[in-house]
Amino acid sequence: MMCAAEAGRGGGRVLVVDHARAAGEKIRISGGGRCNFTNMHAEPGNFLSQNPHFAKSALSRYTQWDFLDLVGRHGIDWHEKTLGQLFCDGSAKEIIAMLRAEMDAVGADLWLETSVEGVSREGNGFRVALRRGDSRHDVSCRNLVVATGGKSIPKMGATGLGYALAEQFGLPLVPTRAALVPLTFSDATLPRLKALAGLSVDATVETAGTRFREGLLFTHRGLSGPSVLQISSYWTEGQDVVVDLSPDTDLGAHLRQLRAQAGRQAVATALASVLPKRLAQDVADRAAPRGNLADQSDAEIDRITAHAHAWCLRPAGTEGYRTAEVTLGGVDTAALSSRTMEARDVRGLYFIGEVVDVTGWLGGFNFQWAWSSGWAAGQAIAAG
Ligand SMILES: Cc1cc2nc3c(=O)[nH]c(=O)nc-3n(C[C@H](O)[C@H](O)[C@H](O)COP(=O)(O)OP(=O)(O)OC[C@H]3O[C@@H](n4cnc5c(N)ncnc54)[C@H](O)[C@@H]3O)c2cc1C
Repeated sequence: MMCAAEAGRGGGRVLVVDHARAAGEKIRISGGGRCNFTNMHAEPGNFLSQNPHFAKSALSRYTQWDFLDLVGRHGIDWHEKTLGQLFCDGSAKEIIAMLRAEMDAVGADLWLETSVEGVSREGNGFRVALRRGDSRHDVSCRNLVVATGGKSIPKMGATGLGYALAEQFGLPLVPTRAALVPLTFSDATLPRLKALAGLSVDATVETAGTRFREGLLFTHRGLSGPSVLQISSYWTEGQDVVVDLSPDTDLGAHLRQLRAQAGRQAVATALASVLPKRLAQDVADRAAPRGNLADQSDAEIDRITAHAHAWCLRPAGTEGYRTAEVTLGGVDTAALSSRTMEARDVRGLYFIGEVVDVTGWLGGFNFQWAWSSGWAAGQAIAAG
């Protein structure tokens, strides 16, 4: 929709095709219905890709401020929730209505409940075979923009069409993986996490040198919450994640102080002066100290608190595409122009948004990539 609105400014006819019943379904359900539509701090460092430089051009030419300007022109009220994340005050539907209005302003068409049965090269352009209800339509076009998204949440209409089209036209793919997704654990660890289900703490979570500090949520299936979703994009099978359950308070210093003042209390009780009670008990159970707080040497206190400051866990996997917010990998950026998103070797074929191997952090970055890359392709088409 973003790309169509921009491409239509060039005066050519634009048609958006979607097999879903409604346009922008992921926008509608995003951000708990309020759509975290961008992030004030968006910059290339917030994106994962085999080529970390690829996103720079589009992100710098159509920025979060450009999108905010558009939102402002449509009278949509918004607020910052946390960490630069911008949400609608009202409803995500306002963002969809805004994009539809932008399309209408340039006369771009939208065909819903329309499936793509095949694409072939026709002269310098393409012929797209469509099925809309009972009727078949062959549409010829000079430019074809693939904006089919990733594999996440197949129930909402995600398909592999974008990847299949890339392969059909000889573009390489970077292997895909579920990202921004809860982590799951084996039978050896799960009961411990299940016992803490429902608890949420501010924590840092680290894997292979990357670290996020946000909320961590214990669930019946494992670990979730923003810090865990973020780290899931960096986690690979066989790696540990290291959790600091008390990033602001040095528990070692705190316990040593309590030992001097009230050494007869149990270690779990002392830990509970900083951590939620159930979690404090869990840390104490894992550390299994002998005796009460007064019985612990400095070295023993360091050993106990390491169970909270550097809790090492090995996930068994992730919840997969069923619940993932995004898909890592996709169309290899090496095959695309970073300025226009056009395939280097197939004139008129463009890939934008999540189908491309550019994946944002949690917090509005993935929509910003969709807007920026869509705008870049639309501009190129309008100018062409
Ligand atoms: C639950 C959830 C919450 C999210 N919340 C946020 C958030 O708050 N902020 C944020 O930045 N990101 C969020 N994301 C990620 C964000 O929604 C996506 O990164 C973004 O929508 C990608 O845009 P896109 O246009 O590339 O693809 P999509 O928005 O996925 O659009 C692809 C479209 O292609 C259509 N399509 C697919 N296959 C076919 C086919 N074969 N034929 C015809 N049509 C087809 C689909 O129906 C769909 O409408 C969230 C994702 C999920 C799943």
